Amino acid sequence: MTTAESTAEPESESAVETARRQLERAAAHLEVDEGVVERLRHPTSVYRVSIPLERDDGTTEMFTGYRAHHDSVRGPYKGGLRYHPGVTEDECIGLSMWMTWKCAVMDLPFGGAKGGVVVNPKELSRGEKERLTRRFAEELRPVIGPMKDIPAPDMGTDPQTMAWFMDAYSMQAGETTPGVVTGKPPVIGGSEGREKAPGRSVGIVTREAIEYYDRELEETTVAVQGFGSVGANAARYLDERGATIVAVSDVDGAIYDPDGFDTNDVEDHDETPGMVSTYDAPEKLSNPELLELDVDVLIPAAIGNVLTVENARNVQADMIVEGANGPTTSAADQVFEDQGVAVIPDILANAGGVTVSYFEWLQDINRRAWSLERVHKELESEMLQAWNAVREEYDARDVTWRDATYLVALSRIAEAHDARGLWP
Ligand code: NAD
Repeated sequence: MTTAESTAEPESESAVETARRQLERAAAHLEVDEGVVERLRHPTSVYRVSIPLERDDGTTEMFTGYRAHHDSVRGPYKGGLRYHPGVTEDECIGLSMWMTWKCAVMDLPFGGAKGGVVVNPKELSRGEKERLTRRFAEELRPVIGPMKDIPAPDMGTDPQTMAWFMDAYSMQAGETTPGVVTGKPPVIGGSEGREKAPGRSVGIVTREAIEYYDRELEETTVAVQGFGSVGANAARYLDERGATIVAVSDVDGAIYDPDGFDTNDVEDHDETPGMVSTYDAPEKLSNPELLELDVDVLIPAAIGNVLTVENARNVQADMIVEGANGPTTSAADQVFEDQGVAVIPDILANAGGVTVSYFEWLQDINRRAWSLERVHKELESEMLQAWNAVREEYDARDVTWRDATYLVALSRIAEAHDARGLWP
């Protein structure tokens, strides 16, 4: 995963504000102990570490790293580590809260965490990135572990970063500990199907939502913003099942063909950077134009805050399935609610990533690798269970899909707090 969620727009809220607002919206529909809600407004702990890095020229530079733990009532903390110049303590706290809801809606035995280092990874050599990662792992060692907190890749980090992180932790632990991180290369305990899982889950959820509205995938047109890891895998999943992918984009622009693209012919950003915007398509569009196309389903799968109060009224799609994290601002969400546009939220749609991370953790603990076929089968089953739980809330109450999703998550977390009680 390499893209950023934009936080520069004036309308955008901080991740922690969004997470708190969504918690309060869900709490208003449930009979939840106010003490539990108050507890969930805050992280359990936030660790701030200083990381000295020896640069290739022999000088030493200091970097700041964070790890926020939000809630662990349902199991060990789980969440990504990002390397990005915009990493802040508040952002880590907000994103750790999102992870708590995401794990709960998927019914995974994990709580939420997020962390990162304030650094531009593009300015580091491979050796510098490795040294930074190893030292960061060492600084976090007291608060992470397979039964405590399990990091994963995020913006600016990848399977290789997780391999160094796991090796550093294992060397100090005196034993190979693959379960300390997920998103590793399969050769050291990573799971088959991990990288494609978020896009696949977006595809599965879109398929279910189409069926819910009594439509056929074969008669569904789809526009995908961001033909990267999430977007391309979602588009290909739906294309293979008969949907017509009429538009896709990358950072440089969009391509449009009303008859639909062969999504295996268009290569994604990693396969051939810039291929989308240079593809020989009937029509070229801008990214904002793609968002306003008259399609059945719009999948924003690039960055955050792209659907705003400025463009929400021009969106003609009947349904939005959030592939990216936080693509819809709260003001835009209100417009979609008023206009009856179904918005299937990120914490459900792209949760295939953390779900296959859970499978990876199970495989590591059991020292037994699953086949890709098994990963796909189990992911399908987990996604259907989550979808059905959300659908039941949606049918039972007069709420949006987003609210229904948060209701499922919060009721599970609140019940767990209730059952365990407050210590001491
Ligand atoms: P990626 O880098 O593989 O792909 C991103 C795509 O978006 C690329 O095609 C890129 O050209 C395009 N893009 C970048 N900036 C853009 C802009 N300003 N306007 C339009 N297009 C732009 O990234 P990814 O891993 O697919 O992640 C995409 C989103 O999904 C992010 O919000 C990420 O947080 C979220 N997400 C990713 C994962 C994962 O594991 N990959 C899991 C859950 C959520």
